[in-house]
Amino acid sequence: MNVEGSVYLKFIMSTLTTSTIQGVSFESMAATFGTPLYVYDASIMERQVHALRQAFETIRIKYAAKALTNLSVLRFIRQMGVGVDVVSLQEAQLALLAGFRPADILFTPNCVSFEEIVEGVELGLTINLDNLPVLEKFGAKYRSSVPCVLRINPDILAGGNLKISTGHSHSKFGISIHQSDQIRSLVSRYGINLCGLHIHTGSELADLDVFMKMADILFSLAREFTTVKFLDFGGGLKVAYRPDESVTDVAELGRRLSAAFRDFSRKEGRELELWMEPGKYLVSEAGFLLVRTNVIKKTPKVTFVGVDSGLNHLIRPMMYDAYHAIENLSNPQGDLQPYTVVGNVCETDTFAAERPLPEVREGDLLLIRNAGAYGYSMASNYNSRFRPAEVLVINGEAKLIRTRDTLDHLLAGQVDIFK
Ligand SMILES: *Cc1c(COP(=O)(O)O)cnc(C)c1O
Repeated sequence: MNVEGSVYLKFIMSTLTTSTIQGVSFESMAATFGTPLYVYDASIMERQVHALRQAFETIRIKYAAKALTNLSVLRFIRQMGVGVDVVSLQEAQLALLAGFRPADILFTPNCVSFEEIVEGVELGLTINLDNLPVLEKFGAKYRSSVPCVLRINPDILAGGNLKISTGHSHSKFGISIHQSDQIRSLVSRYGINLCGLHIHTGSELADLDVFMKMADILFSLAREFTTVKFLDFGGGLKVAYRPDESVTDVAELGRRLSAAFRDFSRKEGRELELWMEPGKYLVSEAGFLLVRTNVIKKTPKVTFVGVDSGLNHLIRPMMYDAYHAIENLSNPQGDLQPYTVVGNVCETDTFAAERPLPEVREGDLLLIRNAGAYGYSMASNYNSRFRPAEVLVINGEAKLIRTRDTLDHLLAGQVDIFK
């Protein structure tokens, strides 16, 4: 990097650096609660819900709980009048504990046993079915007495990464659009009450044409199945992980989809509700992982920054090659140098490779951005390390919403038969 470039980058980095949220400094939170620490900014979740509501004429938001399932976060989201999408009965239980009414919980499991579906019905959840055998069993058992939703696989390859792309023809998710004859015959054989149609094609959809293709497919099925009351476009709204990255233009998406819904109701003489299930969009940017630098390790080739966290706390960089912006909160004006930021797990756990950062010193506090979605919820106790504490900053106050693990968490449920 030439001198000019490095001065420019340094300028960019310093404008990016955030040292407080809602007036509460990250330093003070690290001092109070220790590191590693997950911090969530409630005002950013609010901003995101607001932006979605602004964009659409009407929208029902079902927060995809798997992104971040902390009870206090679920409660906060519910208080904004948002519903929830869950993918397991356990997530449903958490949502119920957080005060969601069963009717506001959409249950979208994949490849589960029929018993799990029955339990979902008994809890009063809205059931989203994802394969033909289960649709057959559902029809035989409930006929028209319990409404259900169908998850359609639209045969569209879309999204950021093959691992997070779920709507293509080789994906395990949904009932293929090419099997609509079988859907038809099951629905008419049992008089199944289809109340909704659903597509979730994967994460990180920036191309609005993908949503419009989904709309075409859903509208054409809805024309045929007149009991359908809502179309659910799933999640997958893309947010920026890099400063200059393209994102889903939610305002434009809202205009285009709202117009398509208006058009449908004019032609068909019936109104459909528009549902979406954002996970990342609501919580990704609201979350920060605060880590402390344990060691600076220079080798002939690389300068490693070893921090007190790892892929056990934030697996996205290793699992999806995800980029997460990192800031050095302790030395924001330092000279930029390339660092490879790694964790302390016995496994290659690189948060960032050869990343220019203001000089990092032992003890420096680093901030990893976009850690709200699929951060804590994918965290584990691998290496028998403790999962971090979680803090929600709300109304200018930092509130502990989960304590750091202790040895008790590691021992819970273990049966020591030789003791
Ligand atoms: C994961 C998931 C979502 C949320 O996806 P994001 O990319 O986080 O918005 C929505 N719906 C279903 C069914 C999911 O499995």
